[in-house]
Amino acid sequence: MTAIVDRLSEVRGAILAAEAGAGRAPGSVALVAVSKTYDAETILPVLGAGQRVFGENRVQEAMGKWPALRERFPDLELHLIGPLQSNKAAEAIATFDVIETVDREKIAKALAFEMEKQGKRPRLYVQVNTGEEAQKAGILPAEAVAFVAHCREAHGLAIEGLMCIPPAEENPGPHFALLDKLAKEAEVEKLSMGMSGDYETAIAFGATSVRVGSAIFGARE
Ligand SMILES: *Cc1c(COP(=O)(O)O)cnc(C)c1O
Repeated sequence: MTAIVDRLSEVRGAILAAEAGAGRAPGSVALVAVSKTYDAETILPVLGAGQRVFGENRVQEAMGKWPALRERFPDLELHLIGPLQSNKAAEAIATFDVIETVDREKIAKALAFEMEKQGKRPRLYVQVNTGEEAQKAGILPAEAVAFVAHCREAHGLAIEGLMCIPPAEENPGPHFALLDKLAKEAEVEKLSMGMSGDYETAIAFGATSVRVGSAIFGARE
């Protein structure tokens, strides 16, 4: 428990140092604590230490543990960072404050429909498959700018930023630079990039939020 809170402080310190190193204002990068696979009991001390922004990669898992935590911490902000199926759009809209993985027409359409139906508008990011990996979710870089425009024009979706997960075995810098370039072209402000192994690099490349799991909670099974 204490180890988790200690690691949270270390990550916060490293974010501040990376912001300073990049000449960016302190607090300009949001920490999304990735709590996937960890239960409510493990997450509680992190909430106790003031962390309010969390990321989960599965809709079902998040529905199981977050509603009760939200009753105790109404100001928390939950991000969906895993792939979304269109048949889960209703649950995703009901459960999350930010959905970072909009990546195709079918999802955009399903989210727009559910947002209208539920009268709830989570903030949205488009996920870009910067490494063009066959097994990875995300729209291809060449299609990203047009897709953001299409989400706005055809579905009335306000896309706030772009998100990427660089290929595990590659130098992430060029992927972060590509996401930044696409965001400027698409005229979106936010960049969700950087995980436990590379969040300091991502901050140097302009990340506005980093998604950090194992560096806080420890290695997952
Ligand atoms: C699990 C996950 C993370 C966090 O990964 P760590 O390496 O544990 O920090 C970040 N982003 C996404 C999309 C994830 O699925």
